[in-house]
Amino acid sequence: MKKKNDLLSEYKKKRNFTKTKEPKGEKVKIKKIKSPIFVIQKHDASHLHYDFRLEINGVLKSWAIPKGPSTNPNDKRLAIETEDHPMEYAKFEGTIPEGEYGAGTVMVWDIGSYKNIRKKPIEECYEEGEIEVWLEGKKLEGGFVLFKTKFRGSKNSWIYKKMIDEKANARRNPVKTENKSALTNRTMHEIEKGDK
Ligand code: MN
Repeated sequence: MKKKNDLLSEYKKKRNFTKTKEPKGEKVKIKKIKSPIFVIQKHDASHLHYDFRLEINGVLKSWAIPKGPSTNPNDKRLAIETEDHPMEYAKFEGTIPEGEYGAGTVMVWDIGSYKNIRKKPIEECYEEGEIEVWLEGKKLEGGFVLFKTKFRGSKNSWIYKKMIDEKANARRNPVKTENKSALTNRTMHEIEKGDK
């Protein structure tokens, strides 16, 4: 694992903070965690995707899920690991300007706390490439699993999947039917307009 101060170096390298309003990520925020948070940001970049982020070790570990999360345990969703994001990013909503890294509109699609279901520290689960968490979000609830896979030989590929429990629901399609911000109740269009 990288040193704590280095965790955000890739995040900072990719961005020009004189142009984007995204958080600068000055600090890795370690706090005594009672309930760590998760966030899912809908990101209308060159390809629309959903960024799933989990608070681990004072940063937001991040995965881009092209198809977004599903509440159907039969659906396996590809999740590409991306750079760690600062904690403040969890509440970032807005439009990253054209020409900048990740240009496009960002919505806080879901946010809440999570519990690690496995009997070892979440940092270890992450290092081993097998995470099981119970989400308490506004849209998503229940157990979800994230495990590393060798999809197309990539080192950053994981699979994201709903676990079978009382919160599983094959008939729901939240990505399609629940498309307003969990923070501000705005649509993508309203967030985009709000920035101009
Ligand atoms: Mn993204």
